Amino acid sequence: MIFLNPIILIPLLLCWGSFLNVVAYRLIHDGSIFFGRSQCIHCHHQLAWYHLIPVLSYIFLQKKCAFCKKTISWLYPFIELFTALCLYLMFTNVPAQFWFGYFIFFSALMVTIRTDLETFMISRFATLFLLPIAFILSYLEYIPLNLEQVILGCITGYFFLLAISSLYYWLTGRVGMGQGDIELLSLIGAFCGIEGWWITIVIASSLGSLSGIIFLFCSGKKTTKIQIPFGPFLAFGAMSYVLWQTPLKSLLLAL
Ligand SMILES: [Zn+2]
Repeated sequence: MIFLNPIILIPLLLCWGSFLNVVAYRLIHDGSIFFGRSQCIHCHHQLAWYHLIPVLSYIFLQKKCAFCKKTISWLYPFIELFTALCLYLMFTNVPAQFWFGYFIFFSALMVTIRTDLETFMISRFATLFLLPIAFILSYLEYIPLNLEQVILGCITGYFFLLAISSLYYWLTGRVGMGQGDIELLSLIGAFCGIEGWWITIVIASSLGSLSGIIFLFCSGKKTTKIQIPFGPFLAFGAMSYVLWQTPLKSLLLAL
């Protein structure tokens, strides 16, 4: 299929990643998603089309705004590249029937990764508000779950993480997990079912703990009170489940 040719598909996906950056930024900062031309977040100068080429503009502008010379966040090229990579893998690994459903799911996850990395916040527009869309996609058979599995997935995912988070708070008096993470696992449950969110949690908590240890080791800090956003790990776990569920199931269920 010509669409799957990487020379055509990757640039399109990089542009989509660039759009998701804008969605994420505007969800957090001003709320209006689709209106207004792109401008520098520091000096508000309107940007020309050649300042907006995914990844390349970041390199050519040497990570700085062309007008005020303030630093452009590394999150822009990171989200563009990560979106292109994950969606490319999705299109080449998943049956064509489910492309549309998972395209929406992966895009929502990218937005949560960006907002959580930038501000430790996950917008409900990218999680809970998309649950009705999961119901519709399931009804249209655009995701491989029936309506019952979608509903059970989102409810159990939500209450599982709520229980863990409440227990942690009760034991330590500290907030370990944000409400955004709980709502994100609910979305993941809707698109991946109970088995899917369970495998996602296993991947996310393993990688999250590992990164915490590496961070503590490298930074030399002697504290357990570091703040690491959990949303990106959940998003990564969920995408891994969609892409490689057969090998992941045989690996994790064998343990
Ligand atoms: Zn500027």
